[in-house]
Amino acid sequence: MQDSPRIGELAGVGAKSAPLFAALGIQTARDLLEYLPFRYDDLRFPTKSSALGASGGEENAVGRVVAVKERRVRGLEIVEVRLRDEAGEFTAKWIGRNRYVYGRFKEDMRLFVRGRAERGLAGSSLNVSHYAVLGPDEEYRGEMVPIYRASKDLTTRKIAAVVEKNLPKLLAWAGDDPVPPALAKERGFAPLQEAYAHVHAPLDPEQAQAARKRFIFGEFLVLASAAAVRRMQREGEHDASALHVPPALLGEFERALPFALTAAQRKVIEEIWRDMTRDTPMNRLLQGDVGSGKTLVAAAAIVLAARNGVQSALMAPTEILAAQHAEKLAPLLLPFGIALEAVFGSQSARSRAGALDRLASGEAAVAVGTHALLTENVDFARLGLTIIDEQHRFGVEQRARLRAKGVSPHTLHMTATPIPRTLAQSVYADLDVSVIDELPPGRTPIETFAVRTSRIEDVYAFVDANIARGHQAYIVAPAIDEASELTSVVAEAERLKAGSFAQRRLGLLHGRLSSREKDDVMGRFARGELDVLVATTVIEVGVDVPNASVMVVLDAHRYGLAQLHQLRGRVGRGAAKSFCVLVYPDDTGETERLGILTESTDGFRIAEEDLRIRGAGEFAGTQQSGAADLWIADLVRDIDVYAQARTAAERIVVQDPRLERPEHAGLRAQLASGRSTMALVLSS
Ligand code: ADP
Ligand code: MG
Repeated sequence: MQDSPRIGELAGVGAKSAPLFAALGIQTARDLLEYLPFRYDDLRFPTKSSALGASGGEENAVGRVVAVKERRVRGLEIVEVRLRDEAGEFTAKWIGRNRYVYGRFKEDMRLFVRGRAERGLAGSSLNVSHYAVLGPDEEYRGEMVPIYRASKDLTTRKIAAVVEKNLPKLLAWAGDDPVPPALAKERGFAPLQEAYAHVHAPLDPEQAQAARKRFIFGEFLVLASAAAVRRMQREGEHDASALHVPPALLGEFERALPFALTAAQRKVIEEIWRDMTRDTPMNRLLQGDVGSGKTLVAAAAIVLAARNGVQSALMAPTEILAAQHAEKLAPLLLPFGIALEAVFGSQSARSRAGALDRLASGEAAVAVGTHALLTENVDFARLGLTIIDEQHRFGVEQRARLRAKGVSPHTLHMTATPIPRTLAQSVYADLDVSVIDELPPGRTPIETFAVRTSRIEDVYAFVDANIARGHQAYIVAPAIDEASELTSVVAEAERLKAGSFAQRRLGLLHGRLSSREKDDVMGRFARGELDVLVATTVIEVGVDVPNASVMVVLDAHRYGLAQLHQLRGRVGRGAAKSFCVLVYPDDTGETERLGILTESTDGFRIAEEDLRIRGAGEFAGTQQSGAADLWIADLVRDIDVYAQARTAAERIVVQDPRLERPEHAGLRAQLASGRSTMALVLSS
């Protein structure tokens, strides 16, 4: 399809307004067509004067002018027009907003007015937001007025006018219809162009609603088809190592542990192992809250691989995390005689060379590392399993590069960011999802408090008492320096050094330190050489210091619930009772939101609440995945439509895996346009 005309070529758009359209992301005729109104003013039905003011919202009325009262008060034009209809009289008011109405209205004129109406002692009045002069015998024909997202300099009225003037021309750029004709018919969808006309200029709300629904379905159909095509392709690959699971292996694995597996861990291990018995590469996402024991599950996958003579690689986003994984995995793998090599950037050339030799020769069964694993000279003798920790921290391309070091290796993605199940099936449509929904027993739950800033000294006294008992504490704040009204870690650390924690050993950690400095501070804290760590959220992932028993989050209102939950997960990792204190400014009404955290330690429940409060677009997990970039659909609001689109997509792809049939040309074109790439984010 050729390019649609530039916005400046449309009637009603001049050199001055074209950049204003561009600023809203509208560069072409097609962009304008796809710029949908987010609501409508329904001007269709006038209310009788006797009923005005009952709705509490905007209302419409039609009447004949009985009297006009005009005043100027300090440069403000005030126009009050008395109008009569068949039920009585009311007053329409214009107050200083529109000087063009001054002197315009005459007795006996017929007017349409719309605005917020109210009832008073002197009868009903209406604050006019919109009006029209009707001809003496003109029948009133109210419309649905589309309201577009506007900017300061480009009003919705202007946008609507340009759309209206150019609508037939715009409709020519409706593009490929992703919905195959038979499916559109089955679902009762109007033809695509008609749907665009219905959404920009509907006759009634139902028409607009039906059109929107069609677009939402279409958008989801593209997403779900992309995922279905990917899945189909993956299912068609048969060169992964089909591993054999010795019947006694799970028992053997469990006996080597100092504790019993939780039921959730056992279930998930079985799911993963079952995937790995197939010659089709596994593509599974393991979701588990902080502390749920994902490392152990990863170890089980590695043990199965090693038993079958296949190597594994685990990649983590930071050196600290990679080192911790190596440390935790080593004792789990030791009883099975599995040798592990670490590969990361700051390693000495000699130790790196040794590790690479042993991986290339196959002498070492497991590599644990950072992005350093992706470098060219890292080779494996037989890489059959890749594990990607905190998967959202890596790009598609990086995940693909790791996989390319083996032949269709099985892949396990891990995340500690819980995503509600409903959302996970769509965001991660090409992945099978496993969830560890149970924490190991015997943990003392972390006690959480929400406290106002005015009580901060009490909070610090509480922290100090815990330090006196031999524990350590984190103090997290949102800003690095004092550039805003937010608490800065640099300033707070200075203040604490001079005050509350003058006798304590205090460290400072933030994203502007070099990685060497960060590792140094983190290392000292982990070894117990620091009592307090004042940090930004750089500590969010990865650190595991069992002796830390207090987490204080300053300006807690600045964080999403899911993120606060992650931060909280940094404590409660040892035997001691742990605490999380969320500090928020006295003047913010945060009690309800933070209350969710004080009540619950269930990451999934918190994620659901976070999602409910912030919507899909803002939700941490989806932002990373690109779900926020959807055009009109919303994965939370429209989740039931997604389910329908997914079923339809699967049906289409089973019948026509490459979308080669003519009726799927529109869908194929939409897929190829790459506009909806979300579903592809996790595939490789
Ligand atoms: P995650 O990576 O999911 O945050 P980890 O794998 O680091 O969690 O496990 C957290 C802690 O729980 C570790 O100290 C681990 O030894 C312990 N753990 C894991 N599984 C169990 C279990 N089934 N019973 C008791 N403790 C467990
Ligand atoms: Mg972990």
